[in-house]
Amino acid sequence: MIQSVNPVPAFDIKQQYATLEAEVSAAVLEVLASGRYIGGPLVEGFEKQFAAYHHVSECIACNSGTDALFLSLRALNIGAGDEVITTTFTFIATAEVISAVGAKPVFVDIDDTFNIDLKQVEAAITPQTKAIIPVHLFGQPVDMTALMAIAQAHNLAVIEDCAQATGASWNNQKVGSIGHVGCFSFYPTKNLGGCGDGGAITTNDPEIASKLRVLRDHGSKVRYIHEEIGVNSRLDAIQAAILEIKLRYLDNWNESRKAIAAYYHQFLNQVPGIIVPQELAGGAGVWNQYTIRVSNAERNGASAKYRDSVRQQLQEKGVSSMVYYPLPLHLQPIYQNLGYQPGSLPVAEQACHEVISLPMFPELTQEQQDKVIYALKDCL
Ligand SMILES: *Cc1c(COP(=O)(O)O)cnc(C)c1O
Repeated sequence: MIQSVNPVPAFDIKQQYATLEAEVSAAVLEVLASGRYIGGPLVEGFEKQFAAYHHVSECIACNSGTDALFLSLRALNIGAGDEVITTTFTFIATAEVISAVGAKPVFVDIDDTFNIDLKQVEAAITPQTKAIIPVHLFGQPVDMTALMAIAQAHNLAVIEDCAQATGASWNNQKVGSIGHVGCFSFYPTKNLGGCGDGGAITTNDPEIASKLRVLRDHGSKVRYIHEEIGVNSRLDAIQAAILEIKLRYLDNWNESRKAIAAYYHQFLNQVPGIIVPQELAGGAGVWNQYTIRVSNAERNGASAKYRDSVRQQLQEKGVSSMVYYPLPLHLQPIYQNLGYQPGSLPVAEQACHEVISLPMFPELTQEQQDKVIYALKDCL
């Protein structure tokens, strides 16, 4: 048991392992004894279960969420001369892979939900645009009905970045099953996290699926015959064994996250100086993060300095927090060549100055949640 004198961590993945130790350890030992470490029945079994969970026909496991995105772009033949539209407020991997295949990322600002502002997507489309990568950031689904309508009208592929949203749905349809492909990460702190790196792609398109299987395995269908430049991006059997066990608990864990978010919401909703996360009516989010915004001076002149001072005070009161993300992608040093300036995408730039992600993991106790709430109210 965690005592109240201990600081509240932003996340704690050791606790989750402790609850599953017997089951997970036995499965890992079995893999070690089996001698099948890469591919094989455990990986195929997990792919089947992950596909079934999403009500899609195909799942292709790979080495990371980043690879899932990279392989998807490759399978859709996106490369030099192409443009891909995405949000500026996301983890670098979302855009990095666009550059890695030789295409150009086109960044769009966000709205109040922290997700891509769909009203601004259409204006970013050019004759070179080939795809859109919506990110279900912090576990909150993008309005996929509106996004798919835009994509269809302009004949664009949709690659869902579901890295932070495993189990979320939009209008009762799981994210990752709505676009042409869905990309997932099993990084340890994601909603379905392995004990190492891992990722997967979901799709209902058998042709894309077979391309993905070839690309993740050195561009080879028949051993030692290589038809394409591929990569080595396979999921280890140990990770598949662990993930298959954890997938059975995912819905319960997501329910716990939802209850914690509701509790935070209840006590933080009316607090002056705090903006709680905004949700859309059709979305069922899974709260990878519970991210508030703090601002002083009636939202004029809200600065990163003020936010950082709030975090510092929280830390002194025994509450850890995180900043996702301090700098939007359009202002990153690597993207200076794209010509964006400070002020180009102002909503995201402001968010970067105001966001604080509070402790959020399924095992967070009510006592810890209370501590977070009291500490935060004290700081403002
Ligand atoms: C974690 C993450 C990724 C990358 O996943 P990895 O498994 O760490 O490679 C991509 N996009 C988003 C939004 C993420 O949060």
